[in-house]
Amino acid sequence: MSEYPTNNRARRNLVGIDLGTTMSAIAQLDSTGVLRTVSNRQGEPLTPSAVYIDGDQVIVGKSAKQAASHHPHKVAMLIKRDVGKSFYSRKVDGRQFRPETLSALIIKKLKQDAERKIGPITQAVITVPAFFDDARRKATEDAGRIAGLEQVAILNEPTAAALAYCLEGQLNKSGAAIVPDFPDGKMTAVVYDLGGGTFDVTCIHLESKRVDTLATDGAVKLGGKDWDDRIVKYVVDRFEKKYKKDGITIPPAGRDAIAIQAENTKQLLSELPAAEFECYYKDRVLRETLTRESFEDMTRDLLVCTEFYITDVVTKQARLPGRNDPLTWADIDRVLLVGGSTRMPMVREMVRRISGKTPDTNLDPDQVVAQGAAVYAAILAARGEDGVLELDEEVRAELDDVGIVDVNSHSLGIKLFNPHTQKFVSRVLIPKNHQLPFAASKVFPLHNAGVKTIRVKVLEGEAPDPEANIELGECVITDLPPNLPAKSPVQVRLSYGANGRVSVMALDMTGGRFAHAEIQRKSGLTEEEIERERQFISQFKIQ
Ligand code: AMP
Repeated sequence: MSEYPTNNRARRNLVGIDLGTTMSAIAQLDSTGVLRTVSNRQGEPLTPSAVYIDGDQVIVGKSAKQAASHHPHKVAMLIKRDVGKSFYSRKVDGRQFRPETLSALIIKKLKQDAERKIGPITQAVITVPAFFDDARRKATEDAGRIAGLEQVAILNEPTAAALAYCLEGQLNKSGAAIVPDFPDGKMTAVVYDLGGGTFDVTCIHLESKRVDTLATDGAVKLGGKDWDDRIVKYVVDRFEKKYKKDGITIPPAGRDAIAIQAENTKQLLSELPAAEFECYYKDRVLRETLTRESFEDMTRDLLVCTEFYITDVVTKQARLPGRNDPLTWADIDRVLLVGGSTRMPMVREMVRRISGKTPDTNLDPDQVVAQGAAVYAAILAARGEDGVLELDEEVRAELDDVGIVDVNSHSLGIKLFNPHTQKFVSRVLIPKNHQLPFAASKVFPLHNAGVKTIRVKVLEGEAPDPEANIELGECVITDLPPNLPAKSPVQVRLSYGANGRVSVMALDMTGGRFAHAEIQRKSGLTEEEIERERQFISQFKIQ
């Protein structure tokens, strides 16, 4: 039975969704400005990003995660790590699934559970790590559409976290107020976001209702799971050493149950100086105590990796508005910790040591991203860009002129042939950490007379060697006029939208008219495939 009052059916909702590698959440800013995470049907604010499939029965969340140890072939987890890969699918319950489709099942579960409480949801802001490239952003957007959302806006996770931190409960008391809680009304913050599978560092400046991202960096494959894996390896090594004389080894398939225990042990070690674990395999058992100290020793290199990123973003990459010199830690007012893995004491100590500041942990690190996404959804609604979310006048007035400026996490360039060196090179058109939206052009003289089509490879990345960058796809310009002479100039304009998505335009400079230009992406679903997947998952019963 729906808890949502039926006389309120006309109102539709715009929500924020944090689609995490290990945990997901959905949140909403209600019309009076109260920000809340909407619990799932099981009454929990966080839903594990695990999908169990058995025929047309789908279970998403805690039970799916628990089923992984007994039915590993029916469960998909860590899906976000594969999102955006070209031509990739995963076998679950004997069938191949695209990462977009598996992500869509998670979104659909969040959506359907939330709809029972707040009514129909048609639009959502879904967050992504700031350094997600175009392919991953598109795949996330597509997942939202496969899940049945009509419109999906993409927002960077650290920007979402900063938005939630800006509000810090002020909405509940006196209506919305995007005003930094600092004497001169300005605040520079660094967001350290270590989730289950990804790591992100972003430096942000807030000043009179404007949120500027100054720089961002991170790693797609660095998160709590890597800390878990170290415990798994330790346990397996100890077990195999103990039972060496019996010739027992634990194959990869036998490690899923250990991985679940390892995560529990890791979380206990955030609270306690030591934790017990047990490992059973083939009627043999290993019982041991792991100390926080040895856990920290076996994972130190992972922490050092995050230390490198945060130091680089703050002291090398970020620039304050109107200043060209690099920042020092003295310029940083707050260090915001986001993501469940920042509960590890080793993270908090490292951040305190290098920044000289006590990290800010006022908000729940697992819910802050979804809540910030809900604030952004409300900002879009207040600006009238969607027209569905009802907001009280006071709240609307506070939100409608909030400006958010993100940066691109990857340089955008093209592949060119250098006739002098006879080699292909990568030419950057939009350097990394440029404020968005932004566009840059390059003029191509036609090689031969009468050419009607031009193809240019579009690359994301900073490396001079094109092979070391990510090939986003080909920018294809068709319908140039038939009789253009050789060397006629054609201007190609590549742009990053405010959401970090890439688009292209082309101008025939001779005739002064736009030519049809599109990016044929190397990966990603077509409109027909999105529709087909949407139909496909509509047959599933999701719990
Ligand atoms: P998120 O994707 O932000 O929800 O973060 C999920 C990650 O946070 C998972 O790897 C969890 O194991 C980890 N995590 C959650 N709570 C704790 C804790 N108390 N100590 C260490 N890691 C935690």
